[in-house]
Amino acid sequence: MTSAVVIGAGVIGLSVAWRAAQRGVTVTLADPVPGSGATRAAAGMLTPVSEAAYAEKDLLGLGAESLRRYPDFAAELTGLTGLPTGFRRDGTMQVGYDADDLAVIEELHALQESFGVAAERLTARQCRKAEPLLDPSVRGGLLTTGDGSVDPRLLARALLAAAEKSGVRIVRQPAAGLLVAGEDGEASEDGGGRAAGARLADGSEVTADWVVLAAGWQSPALAGLPPAAVPPVRPVKGQILRLRVPPEGDQLSRCVRGVVRGRSVYLVPRQDGELVVGATQEEMGADTRVTAGGVWELLRDARTLVPGLTEFEFAEAIAGLRPGTPDNAPVLGPSGLPGLVLATGHFRAGVLLAPVTAEIVADYLATGRLAAAADPFTMARFQRRRQPEGTPR
Ligand SMILES: Cc1cc2nc3c(=O)[nH]c(=O)nc-3n(C[C@H](O)[C@H](O)[C@H](O)COP(=O)(O)OP(=O)(O)OC[C@H]3O[C@@H](n4cnc5c(N)ncnc54)[C@H](O)[C@@H]3O)c2cc1C
Repeated sequence: MTSAVVIGAGVIGLSVAWRAAQRGVTVTLADPVPGSGATRAAAGMLTPVSEAAYAEKDLLGLGAESLRRYPDFAAELTGLTGLPTGFRRDGTMQVGYDADDLAVIEELHALQESFGVAAERLTARQCRKAEPLLDPSVRGGLLTTGDGSVDPRLLARALLAAAEKSGVRIVRQPAAGLLVAGEDGEASEDGGGRAAGARLADGSEVTADWVVLAAGWQSPALAGLPPAAVPPVRPVKGQILRLRVPPEGDQLSRCVRGVVRGRSVYLVPRQDGELVVGATQEEMGADTRVTAGGVWELLRDARTLVPGLTEFEFAEAIAGLRPGTPDNAPVLGPSGLPGLVLATGHFRAGVLLAPVTAEIVADYLATGRLAAAADPFTMARFQRRRQPEGTPR
């Protein structure tokens, strides 16, 4: 029977472990605190279209594919565990605050149309009719009906329960290093040796046929990775707020993403009365301090769009570290070391991409074949870029 050790139990490691166990793989999942990374901070928007920037068409396709799987993924999780995920699918409204902001929204509309994605253009009046909490100054917007959201904390709890029910062994410890089997037990860049498991913090070892590296922004730091297998992942800080609608207060009915005087802000409503306001994007290394400036900017822009939120209870401010890559897309599949599989670098979209990532990686572990959908997302794309000019490909 095939075995795997998955390092990291964020939304990606949890999903991979669950799906792999369902495919008959014997899985050990190592993480000192499952669900504690970027997963804990994330807003949980499932919005592939509004996340797509220019030249990210492959990523848009992967996101759309993952969103397509979400209703079944969420229903299966709840069916198996009895736990909610907060999944809802009521679309996203993107709004522009002033004339320049509306021009940004119009550009986005053109981009969406070029990708063949339908979004409905809304006048200011239509925006307000659909979302009466919006400020009357909002100039207009777009409605994307297929988008949705999930509560990442609920999702992680349900995934952990599902993984356990499916036979995954959870080890609440960090992996301290990679075990490599080979002539001398050392990993080498030319492919000598094979990943054989993980050494845990208490010194014990878990051996397995496959090692899946899903440790979010900390993935490159695992001791023992040969240079060719180190994913180009860096921490990208995001500060985010959680507010609570007062009793008898009104809530937004869908995600609202706004451009406010050139800055982006989003509001994600939850059925339990939470309203998430996010998020900053800062290149600060591994810094998770919540700053007065970060909180102020988010509240200022959110209040510009929804003035009534000053009456909401302030429940939480938190900063998380997104696993960013040079092209904003994840790194999936084989690495420079046989037996080591990468499932990391999901940057701003790991919650969205969890179902499709889990399926691709679980399938690879079970069959040794990588689905074509993963081709644009392997480590090979960075290795190609590193080649000097004139090098034959
Ligand atoms: C503010 C903010 C808002 C976001 N909003 C959204 C959103 O709306 N939609 C969306 O799709 N995505 C969103 N994201 C992005 C999303 O959170 C990430 O892409 C996703 O969490 C990545 O999942 P992961 O499992 O790879 O990493 P993480 O969630 O960071 O989990 C990594 C896990 O690995 C563990 N770990 C680390 N090192 C080790 C080790 N050596 N051994 C064992 N375990 C280890 C950690 O404890 C952690 O539990 C947001 C992120 C932030 C910060």
